[in-house]
Amino acid sequence: MKTLSISIIAASLIAATAMAQEPVWDANTVLLESQELAEGVFAVVAVGADDMAASGLPIATSSGFVVGDESVLVIDTMLNEKLHTQLFDLIATQTDLPVRYAVNTSFHGDHSYGNQYLPEETLIIQHGFTSAFIPEHIEADKAFMIQNFGEGRGIEEIMATPADILVDAGGSLTIDLGNQTVNIRDYGFAQTGGDLFVSVPQANVLWTGNPIIAEAPALPWLLDGHLVETRDTLQAVLADFGANTQVVPGHGPVTDISAIQWHIDYLTAVENDVRAAVAEGLSLEETVAHVQLPEYQGYALFGWVHPGLNVPAAYNDLQ
Ligand SMILES: [Zn+2]
Repeated sequence: MKTLSISIIAASLIAATAMAQEPVWDANTVLLESQELAEGVFAVVAVGADDMAASGLPIATSSGFVVGDESVLVIDTMLNEKLHTQLFDLIATQTDLPVRYAVNTSFHGDHSYGNQYLPEETLIIQHGFTSAFIPEHIEADKAFMIQNFGEGRGIEEIMATPADILVDAGGSLTIDLGNQTVNIRDYGFAQTGGDLFVSVPQANVLWTGNPIIAEAPALPWLLDGHLVETRDTLQAVLADFGANTQVVPGHGPVTDISAIQWHIDYLTAVENDVRAAVAEGLSLEETVAHVQLPEYQGYALFGWVHPGLNVPAAYNDLQ
């Protein structure tokens, strides 16, 4: 078990090294815009995200904010000061109310590194796992992020910022912003083990963070393994939200629950093929070579996430 986890980490580091020449996306040039999805409920998405998503290209972090009668809640705090400032400038164009809460959907830097730039009065909400993980792994995590997103993107100056409110494993939290209620919930392992889904139930809006990268053809990045568990978690999420839900994914334009179904279908296809390969007694290397899934190759990062992360994750789960 331990050896196999290490082999997944090794595969992802090799893949990351292979990609190091080009940042996944350039945090120095991304422009963010806000879109009002319901009264007081805003998605924040990179300009041009629609075209990029249709072409399967990697896109900067999507986030959002919810404005109540008394205060504001922001979902994710961005990779660096530049993007964080853009996010807060967009909030300021809509309201003067204080940003009382910031939720991190995971420990990943592009969702949490902006915490240190939050106003004094903002309370940081994290999963208990995330809160424990960040201070212990911040230096290694920054090195990994610099490798993937480049030097000189503001990652060097990031420090761990402690959370103020924790969501327990399997737990949920309801935040009242004054005539606007936000639900924050852990549905189980979805990419990191500290994954929070944020919704405004009365407006049918859901933020997923990274577990849903973007609409098809984007695919999940199982950096920490657990393919089967991730698929089961996404099924639990899907069961909770209706067809009219507006879904803000971790890295793409506003979409709907078909994006969740797409991720589930891909993970199930990987599981089925890897299960068959394991039954035939194939090694990890043979399984990676064998499980090609051509119908899912439209994503620009397929060559990294599929053979480098997702197939090894399934192999680890199933053998
Ligand atoms: Zn992300």
